[in-house]
Amino acid sequence: MRAGPSPEEVRRHNLGSLLRYVHLHGATSRAELTNRLGLNRSTIGALTAELTTAGLVSEAVPRETGRAGRPSLVVRPESARIHAYALSIEVDRLRAARVGLGGRVLDRRECERPPGMPVLDAVKPLAAFVHEMRHEVADGARHVGTGVAVAGRIRRADGTVRLSPTVDWIDPVRAALSDELGDEHRLTLGNHADVSALVEHSRGAAVGCDNVIYLHGDAGVAAGIIAGGARVTGYGGHGGDVGHMVVNPYGRACGCGSRGCWETEIGEQALLRRAGREGETGRAAVLSVVRAATHGDSRAQFAVREVGDWIGFGVGNLANIFNPEAVIFGGTLRDVYLGAAAQIRSRLNEVALPACREHIRLRTPGLGNDAALIGAAELAFQHLLDDPLLS
Ligand SMILES: [Zn+2]
Repeated sequence: MRAGPSPEEVRRHNLGSLLRYVHLHGATSRAELTNRLGLNRSTIGALTAELTTAGLVSEAVPRETGRAGRPSLVVRPESARIHAYALSIEVDRLRAARVGLGGRVLDRRECERPPGMPVLDAVKPLAAFVHEMRHEVADGARHVGTGVAVAGRIRRADGTVRLSPTVDWIDPVRAALSDELGDEHRLTLGNHADVSALVEHSRGAAVGCDNVIYLHGDAGVAAGIIAGGARVTGYGGHGGDVGHMVVNPYGRACGCGSRGCWETEIGEQALLRRAGREGETGRAAVLSVVRAATHGDSRAQFAVREVGDWIGFGVGNLANIFNPEAVIFGGTLRDVYLGAAAQIRSRLNEVALPACREHIRLRTPGLGNDAALIGAAELAFQHLLDDPLLS
């Protein structure tokens, strides 16, 4: 029989829990930490003292408590001092940020990603952003790692190319970034939709929901799926490629070689084609169709309605399989969702079983367009949160 955890293991676990709590919830009084973490006051005091000595949190007397008696000290993450770099390789742009413990964006940069630019070619401009931001960092600040979110797509002039989420890019991108940024950087890479799902689950629109589907639309459609609190990866990390779920066997040819995949009916090209805007691409074009629809343009209204129907059918099927509490629409799907929410809900209600749909909350990302960027930072903070005194 295995012995229980040692006092040292318990202490490290508790340090991680406390740091994770203030990382996710911000400044928290010792009294509330005692409640939330189920530990006694003296333990919270000792853990806080250790994290303060390590420079990870600070404590202060709250300004106003409105209560008599000695106020409980407030513990806050050292956001300005402890930071990670977050990089996001998206279909149309490259973004980089320095993110403080607690999820605060301290600095950011972005540029366009030209059509056809291979994922690997994004490494140099992103590394240049990191070098620039490093110059702005105050003395005494500490960098804990770099997280990278990659949308597994490349936009070509004639459409898009799909990359498999793990095999094609992870290793080369990791090696190239390592060379550019130096070996001291801890690099963690993840798929765009997956990291968005994780961060919306921990600090966004799906807090408290352990069954979540994050649908991301850009040139294609992908999902990050969380079931029972854990990310669905499948064998080899390819799980969640819902864009290639066949919904219309008589539909259009898809870039993956199949026909009638969901993304051929709900992707940005599906909307633009129905709106009579072939040749246009990108989020601005999608937004312009949705806006035209709300202003009464009948062709745009038709396009948004049709795409809304197909979104509803697909989400209904996913609801029957995963029984999620929340479905979040990100990227271009956010804009389409906002223009077709009633349509989507109505189709979903037709397709999904009552038990699978009654509790579903349909949402836009709580972190807005920053979901993947903050998600990438979360990847980088994991080492620290797992064992705050290790590094
Ligand atoms: Zn396909």
